This record gives sequence, structure tokens and C-alpha cells, in this order.
Amino acid sequence: MKIFCIGRNYVDHAKELGNAVPSEPLIFMKPPTALLINNKPFYYPDFSNDIHYECEIVVKIGKNGKNIQPQFAKNYIKEISLGIDYTARDLQTKLKEKGHPWEIAKGFNGSAVIGNFIPKEQFEDVNNIPFHLIKNGMEVQMGNTKDMLFNIEKIITHISKYFLIHQGDYIYTGTPAGVGPIQIGDLLEGYIQEDKIFQCRIK
Ligand code: ZN
Repeated sequence: MKIFCIGRNYVDHAKELGNAVPSEPLIFMKPPTALLINNKPFYYPDFSNDIHYECEIVVKIGKNGKNIQPQFAKNYIKEISLGIDYTARDLQTKLKEKGHPWEIAKGFNGSAVIGNFIPKEQFEDVNNIPFHLIKNGMEVQMGNTKDMLFNIEKIITHISKYFLIHQGDYIYTGTPAGVGPIQIGDLLEGYIQEDKIFQCRIK
């Protein structure tokens, strides 16, 4: 199983971090050991002082494929969930400055929260899904997949140029504006429309 992530896929978030808007999807990956499921708590690691939440729609792939053409990409979506791409922003900033790979800032244990899955058939349009993140009772991020720079079909097409995609792979599709730091004791709760998809306590 592979975990693909897309960076800078919402213009408002790219801008808040001072990043240029990419001309094609920016792909990175997390190892399977990053997954945090079943509403388990996240343990704040000692190698960072600036872990950020990034709430993102997650796609679960339903069948194997490569070089998938855009008109067929939708057939590879099985289910939709919501999760968090935890990011050690302090490490990431240092690595970016040196032009080094991001893995330790993005792929650490528990850095990929994932919630309940909803069959794609339950959505009229996967490219019009509203979602939001509540931190300690306050809404901190609100997004809609219609605002993605590269929609889900384009992402699948692009990833499958370089990687075989397999049934059970995940794609984190990028985060909207409003990312921010977490602290021990925080409670994060993610919603698709009005349905709670996950919660994560920081310990
Ligand atoms: Zn992200």
C-alpha cells in the first residue's frame, strides 16, 4: 500500500506559505507506518517544536492501473475520506531551504490521520465536496474540492504516469488555507459536509 500526497493544491494555502502555485501536481509520499487510524491519539514527537495540521480529502484507490487517461480516472476512485497530513513545519522549512527531500518532515509515525470511508457513489460530484476542521471547538479550516488546482482525475492521471497505482493506495489531495500549529491537549475533528469523519487528540 502506498500513500501519495499532493502539495500546494489550493491557491490560498500555497500563498499563505509563500509558495509559488505549481504548474503540475506536486507529489510526495508517506510510508505506511505514517497511518493513524481508528481515531487514535497523536503523540507529539520530540524532534519538532512546530507540528502543523493540514486537513485534506483522502481518496482510496479501487483498482490497479498505470498511465490512466483523465476520462477513465474516476473509475479508479473507490472511497473518499478525510484526514490530516501532519507536517513538522520547522524541519520542512530547513529542508526546503537546502533543497533536500521532505520525508522526515512529512512521513514520521502517525503523520497520516485517516477517518471513516464513504463510497464514492454517495457523492454527486467528487469535485464538489465541502469539508472542515474543528480545533478545540473552533473552525480552523474550511475547504471544498472544487477549489483544488488539480482535480481528483488530474491527480490520478499524473500519479499514474510515474507509479503503478494499486487497489488500497491512498491519495491525500492537498489542504486549503488555515493550517496552523498543534499543542499537546488539542482535539482536532474533521467533517465532510456535516458528518464527522475523524477525531484526533494530541498527547
Ligand atoms: Zn498536505
